[in-house]
Amino acid sequence: MNKPLSKLRAAKLELYRQQGKIHARAVAGRFNSLRRALVWLTQIVFYGACWLNWESNGSMRQAILFDIAHEKLYLFGLVLWPQDALLLALALIVAATALFLATALAGRVFCGFLCPQTVYTAIFVWIEARVEGDHLARLKLDRRPPGPGKFVRKAVKHGIWAAVAIWTAITFVGYFTPIRELLAGFGEWRVGPWEAFWLLFYAAFTYVQAGLAREAVCQHMCPYSRFQGVMFDPATANVAYDRRRGEPRNARRQGAGGDCIDCGLCVEVCPTGIDIRDGLQYPCINCGLCIDACDAVMDRTGAPRGLIRFASANELAGVPAPRGVAGRPRVAVYAGLLLAGVLLGGWLLAERTLLRVDVLRDRGALSRETADGRIENAYTLQLMNLDDVVRHYRVAVSGLPGLEIVGGREFAVEPGSIRPVAVTVSAPAGAPPGGIRPIVFDISAEHAPASGVREPSSFVLP
Ligand code: SF4
Ligand code: SF4
Repeated sequence: MNKPLSKLRAAKLELYRQQGKIHARAVAGRFNSLRRALVWLTQIVFYGACWLNWESNGSMRQAILFDIAHEKLYLFGLVLWPQDALLLALALIVAATALFLATALAGRVFCGFLCPQTVYTAIFVWIEARVEGDHLARLKLDRRPPGPGKFVRKAVKHGIWAAVAIWTAITFVGYFTPIRELLAGFGEWRVGPWEAFWLLFYAAFTYVQAGLAREAVCQHMCPYSRFQGVMFDPATANVAYDRRRGEPRNARRQGAGGDCIDCGLCVEVCPTGIDIRDGLQYPCINCGLCIDACDAVMDRTGAPRGLIRFASANELAGVPAPRGVAGRPRVAVYAGLLLAGVLLGGWLLAERTLLRVDVLRDRGALSRETADGRIENAYTLQLMNLDDVVRHYRVAVSGLPGLEIVGGREFAVEPGSIRPVAVTVSAPAGAPPGGIRPIVFDISAEHAPASGVREPSSFVLP
């Protein structure tokens, strides 16, 4: 039987486990350091990338911009159009598959380290701790009756939260409307209705999700927590308590106990307020903070670290790890899909041309004979310029002896637009016997004649 907790420890744990808001105890350790590093990294990228500029054809523009009005996505030197939807869809599939693979290997590790909900909750809790104090001070402040001191602390905290939420919303909208224009628009009270809507919505969303709801989102609202279990297999590593090593808890002094001294620190540091010793639970976000807490306890008691650690169900049960692809079919499938998606995306990107052409034959008149005996066919060429500057294209035709274009053969096309052009092709008098002959249109850009487009078509001879 477990020895009862000391009164002081029991009271602390009880205070911590009070229903209502969770105030997790701060903890130092390698997983906490990793979480902090990732918060810094992701936020430096998010808040900073919208300020980067990119020089394109002699003018500067925002380097990363989702220009919905003009149906363009700028990613530094790359400009994607609606015609590139396949690439974007592939990028989403690759991201989802990478998430599935990470989940199959290490459970809900994305939730613990990279999910925006976790990252912003960590930022908002950090602000709360600076203003209100450590976890016990925050608990006591919450239970204190209203008064001027409490009001001032709460007001300062909510004010800073609101400022962070507003700046986060401005940054978010700044990826859709150039951020410098957006800020200039504030000064002149010139913000469009959509921008105003998204600014208000995103600021409120950030404030509520990260400041008020925080871990409740992971516990009750996140759909991913409900179905991620289907990606697990017995070799998936999750944060787990080694029951065989830890139990019976709090009985070391009798010489017959396990390594767990029932200090409750793993519960106090948990941002979702669970006791990992109760086994794998869906609110666990695999953040590893309970590992940090327990490792520090193990160091103090002289026991080896890892009573709580990333461990698979197999490992905890003493079952050998499966070998090879056949032992972990889910991991093999996700890794294969990920590799295929990355390779396909790379190939599509490498093969992507900034000129696309469709050739349509004039269905009204198959062919006509001119006064000097030549045979003419009429076509419409749809020239699509996917570059972000005006381009000039030259059209040539081949496939029959003496075949030539009558009239205009050079055309300018505005950036990101489709220009239909009428082209007449002529074959000399005395051409081969009648029928439908294959021909080819060659369309090349003036600035890069070597990278042209070949489009097959046909020429009708009477
Ligand atoms: S931190 Fe470790 S020793 Fe303390 S209660 Fe948790 S598992 Fe037991
Ligand atoms: S049980 Fe541990 S890993 Fe899971 S959420 Fe709590 S602190 Fe993080």
